[in-house]
Order: sequence, then C-alpha cells, then structure tokens
Amino acid sequence: MSFVLAIHGGAGTIRRSTMTPELEAAYHAGLRRALLAGHKVLAGGGSALDAVTEAVVALEDDALFNAGHGAVYTSAGKHELDAGIMDGSDLNAGAVVGILGPRSPIRAARAVLESEHVLLHGRGAEDFCRQAGLEFVPAAYFHTERRWQALQDELERRRQLAADTRDDADKHGTVGAVARDSHGNLAAATSTGGMTAKAPGRVGDPPVFGAGTWADNATCAISATGHGEWFIRHAVAHDIASRMKYLGESLTVASEKVVADLGVIGGSGGLVAVDHAGNVSLPFNSAGMYRGVIGVDGRALSAIYREELVA
Ligand code: ASP
Repeated sequence: MSFVLAIHGGAGTIRRSTMTPELEAAYHAGLRRALLAGHKVLAGGGSALDAVTEAVVALEDDALFNAGHGAVYTSAGKHELDAGIMDGSDLNAGAVVGILGPRSPIRAARAVLESEHVLLHGRGAEDFCRQAGLEFVPAAYFHTERRWQALQDELERRRQLAADTRDDADKHGTVGAVARDSHGNLAAATSTGGMTAKAPGRVGDPPVFGAGTWADNATCAISATGHGEWFIRHAVAHDIASRMKYLGESLTVASEKVVADLGVIGGSGGLVAVDHAGNVSLPFNSAGMYRGVIGVDGRALSAIYREELVA
C-alpha cells in the first residue's frame, strides 16, 4: 500500500520582489525537513496521525513559519497559539486555543485528541498540557525580531489610519499537514499564531473542525491556511468533504472549486488535501503558498509561488 504526505507553511508568501535567493532556499529547506520528518513515520509503517504530528512539529520549530517559534503577535504584543488535529479513521479530534507555554501547540492538540475532550482553551488547556507532561518553554522562546517588527509596523499603520500595503507574509501564515498512511487512514493537523496584531482572544480556523482542519477516511483530510474568519464562516474543509460525499466530486474538483469561490468573495488563502486513494490537491487563491508533497519514493517536493513542485 502506498502513502503520501502534503504540507503547507502558510498562504501568505513574501512578495517575489522582496524575496532573496537565500530566503527562498531557506523556505524550501524548512518545507523539506518537515516532509522528511513525516516520511520517516510513514515509511516505517506508522500512522497518518503520527506523520502529520511530526511534520507540523518540524514547521513549528522553524522560525520562518507562523506557528510555535516565530509565531505572530496579538495587538497586545503577546502570543496566543491555536492548533487542531484530526484522525480520519475514527473522527477523533483535539484542539487547543489561545495557549502559551507548551513548546509545540500541535502536540498539545494531540494530547487533547487522546483525552475525553475535543477543544480546550487558555489557562485550562495549559494546565491540561502540564498534567499531560508536555514540554513547556518560556514566552521568549516564541519571539522573533521579524514578527515583533511586523507588529510594530501594523500598530503604527493603524495609528496613522494608512492603507494596508503589507506583504501577506507579514499579516498571517500557518502550518499544516495531511497524510494517507499505508493502512489507508487519513489525518490532518494545523497550527498557527493567527493573524498579526489580532485582537486578544481572537480564534482562527485551525482549531475549528470543518473550517481549517478536517479528516474522514470516507472522503479526505484537509489543512487550510488563510484569512481564518472566511474559512470558519464557509466551513471550508467540511464543504469540500461534503461535495465529495454528496455530489460525488473528486478531491481536485471539490477543493479547487471551494478555494476559487472563496477567493471571489474575499477569503484569501489555500489548503492541502489528500483523499482515501492518496490523491493530493494543493489549491490556493493567493499569490503563493509554501507547500510540499512526499510519497513512497521519499523525494521531497516543494513550491512557493505558482510554479510546479520541485525536488
Ligand atoms: N488561518 C490562520 C488564522 O486565521 C492564519 C493563516 O493561515 O494565515 O488564524
């Protein structure tokens, strides 16, 4: 039986005009590290759930992506991290909202999945993670100069009531993974710092099942990235699964249609998706989306803008 893993590092990419060859290479390297981390699990006969967990942990640890270390700041200059993970074999799911402390928000979500809960937030979620024995780090661990500066620029822009001319990459981003394992099971995981200068308490789509994260062996596994409010209002991930289930659409047709329609009404972003047969779809309606795919052959393929995946 074959297996496949697809990942994203956010649909808010740096403008081509400001991207340097060094930075571009660093993004590809980060994506490939995450692909290889997930591939190691799948090649060893491991589960899709473990593979998406390990791939997302690798992206959280990478300062370039908006999750874990390197996450964006709220308007109050704090980190509030959201993450969600779902097992397509039994529709078990776990998510954390607005947490700060556990080094890996996706491992926190995974611990919730393994408990009797589905969704835990704030202080209660952090206490739960402590009791579950997860690794904690000081708040400074999540800091990067780039994200702090992006917050200062955005707060200044708001003071001046100036037009928003920021790069997408300075506004948001997210990391995520979907996989189909050699047993035919699907899983999805998504982790984010949210949107730069988001209101304290604001929750994005990654921990909202059916919006930014969804997995069901009967249809597909999806991890989304983009302007979360749109993904929540339009139940984007579940909409794709429903089109497959009730209209008999293929993964590609359903996912491309939903993402294109969302773009028309103003919901910028994209997603990675895999179905029970191992087909992969990576649609986005933004200028780019950090993304990658790896299959049985172990070739890590990645792309940033509207180009083909390259090894
Ligand atoms: N979807 C994330 C959120 O709304 C942000 C992103 O993916 O860019 O929190």
